[in-house]
Amino acid sequence: MTHNEARDRYDNMKYRRCGHSGLNLPALSLGLWHNFGQDVAIETSMAICRQAFDLGITHFDLANNYGPPAGSAEETFAHILKTDLHNHRDELIISSKAGYRMWPGPYGEFGSRKYMMASLDQSLKRLGLEYVDIFYSHRFDPNTPLEETMGALASAVQQGKALYVGVSSYSAAKTAEAARILKGMGIAPLIHQPSYSMLNRWIEKDQLLSRLETEGMGCIAFTPLAQGLLTNKYLSAVPSGSRATANKTMLPEFLTPEILGRVEALNKIALGRGQSLAQMAIAWVLRDSRMTSALIGASSASQVKDSVGALANLKFDETEIAAINQHAIDSNVNLWAESSSH
Ligand code: NAP
Repeated sequence: MTHNEARDRYDNMKYRRCGHSGLNLPALSLGLWHNFGQDVAIETSMAICRQAFDLGITHFDLANNYGPPAGSAEETFAHILKTDLHNHRDELIISSKAGYRMWPGPYGEFGSRKYMMASLDQSLKRLGLEYVDIFYSHRFDPNTPLEETMGALASAVQQGKALYVGVSSYSAAKTAEAARILKGMGIAPLIHQPSYSMLNRWIEKDQLLSRLETEGMGCIAFTPLAQGLLTNKYLSAVPSGSRATANKTMLPEFLTPEILGRVEALNKIALGRGQSLAQMAIAWVLRDSRMTSALIGASSASQVKDSVGALANLKFDETEIAAINQHAIDSNVNLWAESSSH
């Protein structure tokens, strides 16, 4: 059955140019890290994607290892592409990545050409696609020459298996090196995907956005809600079914009185702006026009709708920024810090 897509889906979403490329990305993109594996009912995953597409979200972000089990999120999305999003492939930007452990043995993770090329072939097979729009090196590999990892990305483009390429969680310095290598091979790097939120501000210290501007690359910020911390859901209790109860990547040690105090204060500021905290957190990562997109996750269609509501107020005045800065403090929630430490 094909989904009866909303005809007004492009009326309200904002699209931002990705660096110096020809590609526009939606201000909010949807990530399929959680809630698209075999642990979640397919109807839930389908409803999330349907809602996103109907609100103008054209970009869906995947990786080889999303699930569980690893690979199953790509299979779920393949199903959604065949059913609800049938006939809409050319309206979509679909990304995948390789870098984290995908299969056993020495060729199942990191950045060798052997792993990157095999992983992309596997992703395409699972997705049922001839090409992905963006293929990423998911993390920096300190033991593989960057020329080799970037060479694999360049080959993916040359072989028609990816239209664009990017890097994720690379430091500004390694991004510059990667960009130089790719440009030397005739490939313009499209985008960087770093973690970034009001509780995780490493990209500011690293001056990543300035570097990306120099390189002509865009930026898509993942976990803008700090995996759900930057919402009002944990303020009075830990709701059952929330990510913090799922024994996954939202660690119980994130829920300290200190961090929850910051969230409480930020929640008050959001209410003063007439926004939910989730909406303000998304608007905040988008406050710099060099940030192309906020890469959100969702466990329900209604969360997608709430998050897209951020677009109603993307502006911050200086007083608000100053008030937010008092509580938007690095809180040790960056699980990807090791990759960008090189
Ligand atoms: P996130 O947006 O920070 O967190 C999403 C979670 O927040 C949801 O699962 C939900 O938690 C809660 N939530 C979302 N919208 C809400 C709303 N409006 N109100 C209340 N709660 C809300 O992002 P994420 O899911 O951690 O990551 C997003 C995407 O970033 C991933 O899917 C992936 O594509 C990408 N990512 C990339 C990397 C990388 O290394 N490149 C790493 C991580 C993620 P509950 O489940 O508790 O309801």
